[in-house]
Amino acid sequence: GGSCPRAGARAASAAPRGGPGRGPGAMEASGGPRVLVVGAGLAALGAAQRLRAAGRLRLLEAGARVGGRVCSGLAEMGAHWIHGPSEGNAVFRLASRYGLLGPGAADEEKQRVEAGGHPLLPSVTYGSSGRVLSPEAVSGARALFSDLLESTRLFVGAEAPPAPSVGQYVRAEIARLAATWPGDEESRRLRLAVLSACLKLECCISGTHSMDLVALAPFGEYTALPGLDCTFPGSLPDRMLAGLPEGTVLLNKAVRTVRWQGAFREDGRAQREFPVRVECEDGDSFLADHVIVTVPLGFLKERHQDFFQPPLPERKAEAIRCLGFGTNNKIFLEFEQPFWDPDYQLLEVVWEDESPLEEPSTDLEANWFKKLIGFVVIQPPEQYGHVLCGFIAGKEAEYMETLSDAEVLSTLTRVLRTLTGNPQLPAPKNMLRTRWHSAPYTRGSYSYVAVGSSGEDIDVLAQPLPEDGADPRVSALSERLAVGSSGCGVEAIRALSTPIPSPLLQRAGHT
Ligand SMILES: Cc1cc2nc3c(=O)[nH]c(=O)nc-3n(C[C@H](O)[C@H](O)[C@H](O)COP(=O)(O)OP(=O)(O)OC[C@H]3O[C@@H](n4cnc5c(N)ncnc54)[C@H](O)[C@@H]3O)c2cc1C
Repeated sequence: GGSCPRAGARAASAAPRGGPGRGPGAMEASGGPRVLVVGAGLAALGAAQRLRAAGRLRLLEAGARVGGRVCSGLAEMGAHWIHGPSEGNAVFRLASRYGLLGPGAADEEKQRVEAGGHPLLPSVTYGSSGRVLSPEAVSGARALFSDLLESTRLFVGAEAPPAPSVGQYVRAEIARLAATWPGDEESRRLRLAVLSACLKLECCISGTHSMDLVALAPFGEYTALPGLDCTFPGSLPDRMLAGLPEGTVLLNKAVRTVRWQGAFREDGRAQREFPVRVECEDGDSFLADHVIVTVPLGFLKERHQDFFQPPLPERKAEAIRCLGFGTNNKIFLEFEQPFWDPDYQLLEVVWEDESPLEEPSTDLEANWFKKLIGFVVIQPPEQYGHVLCGFIAGKEAEYMETLSDAEVLSTLTRVLRTLTGNPQLPAPKNMLRTRWHSAPYTRGSYSYVAVGSSGEDIDVLAQPLPEDGADPRVSALSERLAVGSSGCGVEAIRALSTPIPSPLLQRAGHT
């Protein structure tokens, strides 16, 4: 995304100019079919690894580095954890093959833990009245929320689920149960406030503005892989790049149009005809037999009508429109000294006057910061200093992107003073944040199965074109590497293990 300024290690920063229609460099070197990959994130690099022996492969990347939404510089701006790190997880397998996992992460015992796809971090919960909330009160409400999410599994494949969205279902259940809660008014209110915070956390996990947008029936389809979540190795993209022939990736090569039903010839080579021509923003163009498109769904939502010529068949266009793609941003705050107890790795936040049974505020300017779910303590402090990473999803996260650094910093300083009850709490000395919604080649953070769509739409998106399937020209891996988190906190990391259509592999020399 546009939010990460680090350049990739071995990729060429611009194409040797070959003039329109000329695919220069590695692709020219050998015979056989030519394959272009649009993008150089993990999905593209995974595809390239599978196809590299063909030697006629080129990746065109809009940005100045490889990795896409895995983007580590001063801090990791994208993927944070390998969820469910165990043998069934392709990212985990690759990271362990390259020796990139942190100490202990590769322990077989850790791989067997059923963590439900969530990082298990020792936590403390701050309330908006400036006190630390009772762990018992918080954990009771959290357990209730997690039971409610687990119960969504009942509706997988249901023809008439009790509500269209996860949010509507969960809120209706909370309203029903709340009528029977014993205890005083204050503990009822606190329980509702914690449940409200749980819904916000779920928005971050699902990458959505509101759980009212996330479809109920497909929600329980995700399966959690076993394993104790570990840190996502930010160097993975560079390691994957290092295994590709020099010059395979062209950086700063934004693709404008994919023409996929033509008969294109190169100057001076009239005997060879290519069905695909990929045209770039800078005027360069490349001919190919096959193209694999790995651009994010957010980009496709905005651009698919002009991006593909001819336009995509209606069923694919519909999948692009219906699937959800939302924003989850990170805000890193660095402190001179920690104000938190070093035993804790997660500082959670509860606004004590909120309730899932009341309409949330729509006044972004006044209340955007209340969507922040809390902070992960970046580990280890000896390496990174005293750094907290806040998470915020949805329209509030997109609004945050429009504010200046100084505004974000002063707002969060005020919030932390409120939460800790310490009006003298020193301001953070540095702040760094992501702006995934503004990044023109990403336009958000990750995808979810929205009301009106189903898991099938993800498969529809991945089906090669043309639809008769005999000779795929366009394959899409967009969002095959999606974070498909659900209440059970599950990841669906699929791209690296997604089959590339076999005619494409065979024709590229892998039988
Ligand atoms: C804040 C955040 C937190 C996350 N946390 C986690 C996590 O904890 N665990 C996890 O597993 N996942 C997480 N993810 C999701 C994970 O990062 C993505 O699912 C994954 O990186 C997507 O890989 P990809 O290759 O499909 O897409 P991308 O990495 O987005 O790659 C697509 C590439 O295509 C390029 N591109 C786009 N348009 C064009 C064009 N027109 N021409 C040329 N190139 C183009 C882009 O620049 C980009 O490099 C997180 C993501 C974000 C944003």
